[in-house]
Amino acid sequence: MRGLMQDWPMLTHRIIDHAARVHGDREIVTRSVEGPIVRTNYRNLRARALRVAQRLDREGIKLGDRVATIAWNTARHMECWYGIMGIGAVCHTVNPRLFPEQIGWIINHAQDRIVITDLTFVPLLEKIADNLPSVERYIVLTDKAHMPQTTLKNAVAYEDWIAEVDGNFKWKEFDENTAAAMCYTSGTTGDPKGVLYSHRSNVLHSLIANNGDALGATSKDTMLPVVPLFHANSWGIVFSAPAMGTKLVMPGPKLDGESVYELLSTEKVTYTAGVPTVWLMLLQHMEKNKLTLPDLKVVICGGSAMPRSMIKAFVDMGIEVRHAWGMTEMSPLGTVGALQAPYAHLTGEDKLDVLQMQGYPPFMVEMKITDDAGKELPWDGKTFGRLKVKGPAISGAYYRVDTKILDEDGYFDTGDVATMNEHGYMRITDRSKDVIKSGGEWISSIDLENLAVGHPKVAEAAVIGVYHPKWDERPLLIVQLKEGESATREDILSYMDGKIAKWWMPDDVAFVKAIPHTATGKILKTSLRDQFKDYKLPSAAA
Ligand code: ADP
Repeated sequence: MRGLMQDWPMLTHRIIDHAARVHGDREIVTRSVEGPIVRTNYRNLRARALRVAQRLDREGIKLGDRVATIAWNTARHMECWYGIMGIGAVCHTVNPRLFPEQIGWIINHAQDRIVITDLTFVPLLEKIADNLPSVERYIVLTDKAHMPQTTLKNAVAYEDWIAEVDGNFKWKEFDENTAAAMCYTSGTTGDPKGVLYSHRSNVLHSLIANNGDALGATSKDTMLPVVPLFHANSWGIVFSAPAMGTKLVMPGPKLDGESVYELLSTEKVTYTAGVPTVWLMLLQHMEKNKLTLPDLKVVICGGSAMPRSMIKAFVDMGIEVRHAWGMTEMSPLGTVGALQAPYAHLTGEDKLDVLQMQGYPPFMVEMKITDDAGKELPWDGKTFGRLKVKGPAISGAYYRVDTKILDEDGYFDTGDVATMNEHGYMRITDRSKDVIKSGGEWISSIDLENLAVGHPKVAEAAVIGVYHPKWDERPLLIVQLKEGESATREDILSYMDGKIAKWWMPDDVAFVKAIPHTATGKILKTSLRDQFKDYKLPSAAA
């Protein structure tokens, strides 16, 4: 027997309709690419998104066509998202931090028809435009006064482009499983892979995010997503914030400590989300200038492991830290680390122990850990295995790739190695390709990195496995010191001594000026492995 409830397709434009109707006056504040701070609200944002939809429709963009955006977090960018999806086209966010050849590869693979971009990226696109045959025109997110001279095909200033229609338009009707958005994984190994979100998965993901123990901002809150819209959907905040009527503060192109601090402070932001590198810059700026953030309640941090010293810095300011883990393929939230009831009373180091784990899966994310043969491993907080996930906002396949990506039970292998404890808290111990295999036993590079960055002189640390004649691989610790600091190999190793098993101790320490990062802010281990491929460990010589 079927239920007798209404058929109400979960379409993303329903979110902005709701926000405009119920929270119409709630603001979206943007640090614009042109410079000034500009303000709009959900009512106006929806009206302009409808113009985008109408204008794309006039442009001949149809259901399933791909429209790329290469842009910072701004209200204009957000209007484009809703406008593109609202006619059943696919909003393809492109990460401008990738190499130009990779950007070209991705646009060609997606066969984008239109590219919507910020002033910042016009020169970059001009360099590769000749090799982008599918692109029919470029829309520059600015007005006539700021529109540059450009060789980009049929280029037009966004404000002029949407002024050509009256906004009297209705969203199109289609099935909730229609593709809404796409985002390529950064392809740290191999070609980038296209993740294709549906309207249904985006709407469900907004509910996952709006769970009080996940992102959980309310209509009374103000959220600043530092995490870019082109990085795994800005963790879904473009959907979850309007669904709640949360005020949004969009940082535009300026993500340095001083600029982010200024917005957090003047707009009295209560929730913010970003990767550890961003928080490192913010904390350094605050420490140097003896600043506080009395309104900030929650910092969500993910994308790579949040160092314990960083968690402590926020906790000491009375700010709640939620360590999150996820990936592009998961829309992206997989786990969030709010304190569950059994841990709520904890203080001091015990509390930090829990906060340092990556959190637990909210409803609609299922997880298991397995050994290499696929056998499930216990949730005892110690045993680590391959982390596999399942849920309605998790990829079942990649765009235009035939390979099967799910196991026989429908789980997706995340490529991460993790432990799970009895309350479902997950702790990443490694990427499966980064784990150090010493004499057949696994050493977690992330645990060693977390420990090393606790040293007061260390700015950032990376651990890679290097060849060892007896053990196959041994850990090499690569350190970037804080500006103006000096330290020796012995200083660092004696700091780590006693805090980990003896056989986990790095065999050597190498100091570098800067640790390289990927386009999504993760340590670029492939480049470090390359740089240190002939490294001779002192222990290997003995
Ligand atoms: P990429 O394409 O660069 O892998 P994603 O943003 O999809 O981009 O990255 C997902 C990966 O990032 C995860 O599989 C995991 O390895 C890593 N990651 C994300 N959050 C965390 C975290 N809190 N701690 C450790 N690693 C993390």
